[in-house]
Amino acid sequence: MDLHLDSHLGDGYKSNSQKMRVITEAWAGDNVFCPYCGSSVSHFENNRPVADFYCHECAEEYELKSLGRVIGDKINDGAYETLIKRIKSSNNPNFLFLHYDKDSLKVKDLIVVPKYFFSPSIVEKRNPLSQEARRAGYVGCLILLGQIPSDGRIEVIRDGIPYPKRDVIEKLYRTKFVRDFDVESRGWVLDIMNCINRLEKKRFTLSEIYGFESFLADKHPTNNNIRAKIRQQLQVLRDKGFIAFEQRGIYKKLM
Ligand SMILES: [Zn+2]
Repeated sequence: MDLHLDSHLGDGYKSNSQKMRVITEAWAGDNVFCPYCGSSVSHFENNRPVADFYCHECAEEYELKSLGRVIGDKINDGAYETLIKRIKSSNNPNFLFLHYDKDSLKVKDLIVVPKYFFSPSIVEKRNPLSQEARRAGYVGCLILLGQIPSDGRIEVIRDGIPYPKRDVIEKLYRTKFVRDFDVESRGWVLDIMNCINRLEKKRFTLSEIYGFESFLADKHPTNNNIRAKIRQQLQVLRDKGFIAFEQRGIYKKLM
């Protein structure tokens, strides 16, 4: 995988963001593989509103977001309603987050987030633009990448070093069970996965997960029995092979 970006492709573009979009899209078209099947991806001919790339083999669709800075916990995106609609649609795209180094024009990091890790709860609505703004009333959004479980943020390149293709495909394969949930029930599953990951250990107890009760209550204000929901979701994650029950109140993370 060649990590150099071809700066000449940006010649003729006035705005820097447009220029970098063209340059990074060309790089992705030449270098990115589909993490579901390993085939190459192609750029959509026309500027489709839903996605930038698709896989020849399995038809998965990808949207590329390129950043000239380290990929943080919050990523600026376009219109709030547009992204929510897409997350809820049947052909919502997978996301690629690319960080390039502005000086050396080399790709530093690339993360793929499978489409089923997106739920409306990881999209933050921004305040509408003021009446004085050119696009008055426009409501943008932030993708809360930091709230996606680490299992769903699959590294393809880290600090200028690509991971072997088979490792990326295998990592994605292990998360496929999340796909079985519809977009409404997915929010809970992902929240509990997040809580488990935040403990940063293989073995954990039920009371440790109860420690996230107030955090979960804030995210799900209409639920009046958070502890019962936690227990139910742990059973769901056990059935999917994400965790195992070792003994009463003690769990083990399998992935
Ligand atoms: Zn594919």
